[in-house]
Amino acid sequence: MMMENTEIKPHRIVESVGEEVKELKKGDVVIPVFVGECGECENCNSEKTNLCLRHPLSFSGLLPDGTSRMSIRGQTLYHLLSCSTWSEYTVSDVNYVMKVDPDVALPHASFLSCGFSTGFGAAWMDSKVESGSSVAVIGLGAVGLGVVKGARVQGATTIIGVDKNGMKKDKGEAFGMTNFINPEAQQSSGNADSKSISEMVKDLTGGVGVDYCFECSGVPDLINQALEATKVGKGKAVVVGAGLDQFVQISFLNLLMGRTLKGTIFGGLKSKTHLPLLLHKCKNKEILLDELLTHEMKLEDVPKALDILKQSNCVKILIKI
Ligand SMILES: [Zn+2]
Repeated sequence: MMMENTEIKPHRIVESVGEEVKELKKGDVVIPVFVGECGECENCNSEKTNLCLRHPLSFSGLLPDGTSRMSIRGQTLYHLLSCSTWSEYTVSDVNYVMKVDPDVALPHASFLSCGFSTGFGAAWMDSKVESGSSVAVIGLGAVGLGVVKGARVQGATTIIGVDKNGMKKDKGEAFGMTNFINPEAQQSSGNADSKSISEMVKDLTGGVGVDYCFECSGVPDLINQALEATKVGKGKAVVVGAGLDQFVQISFLNLLMGRTLKGTIFGGLKSKTHLPLLLHKCKNKEILLDELLTHEMKLEDVPKALDILKQSNCVKILIKI
């Protein structure tokens, strides 16, 4: 199936479909997704996972038939995570494409292929945070802000955001955060007994910790902090952020004390079942994704984007291809 990007629409329009493709047609507006959903396998029929067995997460850079359909000047290009979105045209497997309502706000659709939706899903579908729960979120980028909103929609009453960028306080509150911890500000305030993140979370929860702590930064050591910030006997730490390190040391004692450590891909969202529900909430203004959009730029300015990402007022940069 061929898809094109246009100047006016930052998501994709189907240019043509293969002869066996039934659910899409030329002209449909779609967003690429990296988690497939066949709707029939053991995992697609399970409420516990979104990781389809028939269309697995692919890191090979190739389509399921083992080929790449893209090249430049005779050199093979690869399909990153089955999608490859930084191109004017691409060939996608229909199982990694989702049709969307063409009226959805244009930049917002691009925020839902991952990022905000991953965080939202982690609280909503993966952990199914219960009403009245207490939640901490480490790292308030688009993923962390998604967790904050997901926890709020699920009825969590205490939602603690943790970020070393003080400007994230306003963003967190816009999505439903109730308390903010800036560990660097508190650790550098000259206080002789500087506290760890988990101790600061416990200070805000009567010393017991939270029901759920979502680690969204990808910093390995913060997984232990997330675990330790949860309640003894029943707390759950959820790894949502991805870092460069493959291995991390986990404290035995924190696990033995009845806590659970879990990871999630795409927040447990099934792309075809759950993403349309999320898009509907955005279209109805139940979720204000405008809060995430802080910068826009052209594709040729991408090198500058890497610097802008480090600015404290940046959450998401929309690249216009
Ligand atoms: Zn499946």
